[in-house]
Amino acid sequence: MENIINEIEKQDPQLYSQVEKIIPFHGYLSTGAFIGLQMLNMAKRILDVKEGERIYAVSETYNCLPDPFQILEGATIGNKGLRVKDYGKMAVTVNKRAEKGISSVKGVRIYLDPDKMAEYPKLHAWYMNTAKVPHEEVLPELLKAGESVYSYEMVDIEVPLKMKKKVRLCEKCGESFVQYEDEALCPACNDN
Ligand SMILES: [Zn+2]
Repeated sequence: MENIINEIEKQDPQLYSQVEKIIPFHGYLSTGAFIGLQMLNMAKRILDVKEGERIYAVSETYNCLPDPFQILEGATIGNKGLRVKDYGKMAVTVNKRAEKGISSVKGVRIYLDPDKMAEYPKLHAWYMNTAKVPHEEVLPELLKAGESVYSYEMVDIEVPLKMKKKVRLCEKCGESFVQYEDEALCPACNDN
């Protein structure tokens, strides 16, 4: 593991400074977190994200990939900068904040593309789960491949309308909850 971190430092100091922030938050540099980092840097370049500009991300997996967005961009679950649609895909859609009154904004969906991995058999085996490949063996291939193993497409993203929040007391447990329509029970009581 040390080796690959040193290699990153040698090859790309900028990338290394990002990796240094990811490790304590995520626990270590996992393959998925590194993929998330490469996707983040790619999205910022494609969308021309300026320093300090807010971004929004929708990750298609819970595994590792979302963390660089939380750590480096402050796009978190709590501030709604990050959402997860758990499709089990190594893919993310990123957009910048829409201007006021605009109902649609351009975003980019980036995915790890198995068709582009002919030169990277370990990465391919890890991704398709055809063999057990440790992170230390996948990461050097990812570093070498850079953006060449990703594909992307531009997408239109609907900006959600701000709805007026209605708070009600649940008729069963008595706790307050955010009501979506005219339901009498909170979602927890409704589930039970
Ligand atoms: Zn309740």
